Amino acid sequence: MHQIGLLWFNNDFRIGDNATLLRASEEVDQLICLALIPSETTAPDKFKPATLSTPRRKFLNQSLEDLDRNLNALGQHLVVSQHSIEDSFSKLIAQHNITHVFCSQINGSYETNQWQNLIKHYPMINFHQVANNRLFESSQLPFATAELPNSFSKFRRQVEDIQVINAAPSPKKLPASPIPKSSRQSIKSHFKTSNRDLFKGGESSARQHVTDYFQRGLASTYKETRNGLDGMDYSTKFSPWLANGCLSPRQVLTELHRYERQVERNESTYWIYFELLWREYFKCYADKYGHRIFAFSGINGRRPTTSFYPQRFQKWCQGNTPYPIVNACMKQLNSTGYMSNRGRQLVASCFVHELDLDWRYGASYMEQQLIDYDMASNWGNWQYLAGVGADPRGHRRFDLDKQTQIYDPKGQFIKRWQGDRGDPVLDTNDIVDWPIANAET
Ligand SMILES: Cc1cc2nc3c(=O)[nH]c(=O)nc-3n(C[C@H](O)[C@H](O)[C@H](O)COP(=O)(O)OP(=O)(O)OC[C@H]3O[C@@H](n4cnc5c(N)ncnc54)[C@H](O)[C@@H]3O)c2cc1C
Repeated sequence: MHQIGLLWFNNDFRIGDNATLLRASEEVDQLICLALIPSETTAPDKFKPATLSTPRRKFLNQSLEDLDRNLNALGQHLVVSQHSIEDSFSKLIAQHNITHVFCSQINGSYETNQWQNLIKHYPMINFHQVANNRLFESSQLPFATAELPNSFSKFRRQVEDIQVINAAPSPKKLPASPIPKSSRQSIKSHFKTSNRDLFKGGESSARQHVTDYFQRGLASTYKETRNGLDGMDYSTKFSPWLANGCLSPRQVLTELHRYERQVERNESTYWIYFELLWREYFKCYADKYGHRIFAFSGINGRRPTTSFYPQRFQKWCQGNTPYPIVNACMKQLNSTGYMSNRGRQLVASCFVHELDLDWRYGASYMEQQLIDYDMASNWGNWQYLAGVGADPRGHRRFDLDKQTQIYDPKGQFIKRWQGDRGDPVLDTNDIVDWPIANAET
């Protein structure tokens, strides 16, 4: 029987080390490569963003354009759809007698439910989810998903010596598409590339960036510089490409090991691996806790004390609070779609502890803005900082003045991003005017 595959590029916009693409190319005679693009505005949910920031949308578009170019070189092309997964699939399945559907391992309870519904709805089709965006296969882990250690340190000790499987080879050729290239919806982006952009989406830019990062020797000093606030060099900046699957963690590790063999192996190079393990931990955490990663009381059922202050929330988003370091970070995020790890910790701590806001609104705002948005890392880190997640210490409150003295002693970062122009007064309304709003999802 003629086998026709549908490959949904869900979080893996690359050709290299793409086990899903490799498997699909080996199993079917014809193949449709599909990516879903969020429409300009989606139906707003209580905490879900109604729209994506311009930097995030631009990065995504650039990634898809690059993927299409790379598929073209292998005799394929990308089909894009702005419809829901159910509508997109049903149309393609009805038109093309699809026999197989492939996607990369899904992280997220909502997407998992969608996938399960599709499997139920189309019992005659073979559905395959392929592990593709992690360091370890689940069969390599010394614990079942439900037994994931409750702290990162315990997790790290159990996994850090596991041999990571080599990156998968790129397919030499792909089965042809039953959809002519000329009849598909255009993916040409209406975003102009600007010299001011820190990042450009796509596998090609990812490869270039990784090569430059290691060639410039930056890995040797990562541990000392990683808490910087501004610029491209203090940390790896791999996250936007990792989060969109333009780059895989195994590809990063391959380059890191090459660097350790050929140039230098030290505490800094180990620390890059250490941070990739944090990423891995939050992926497993999302698997274990499912929808509880979005729950107000987190994984332990401890409800934080909080209230609803719309003005404070708005001021935080705009970088207009009485805290200059927070304002500078938020303006950097709004302008570039990126914020340093240190910055994220400070703005989240401010959100929870100084502004007394419901952490889910902060996480949701970052989901909208960050070009490296990753469900597991974002919501997992927010839970951690809000004291409802995987932090054995309960919660983290940062002293913003002290942190400013340490990380921006000359005030250059604050000046550059005009963080000192915030409103010195936090509330202009009496807080009793606002209802308590801390309902559990
Ligand atoms: C409130 C908050 C929200 C966050 N949201 C996201 C998010 O949506 N997407 C995201 O990728 N990271 C998120 N992080 C983690 C971290 O801030 C970013 O991964 C990091 O700043 C990306 O820059 P980099 O690639 O230069 O990181 P580097 O410091 O160079 O680290 C290398 C890689 O390790 C991983 N990593 C590093 N720190 C963490 C961490 N704390 N948790 C998980 N993985 C980590 C990333 O994949 C990163 O690319 C969040 C952190 C906080 C505190």
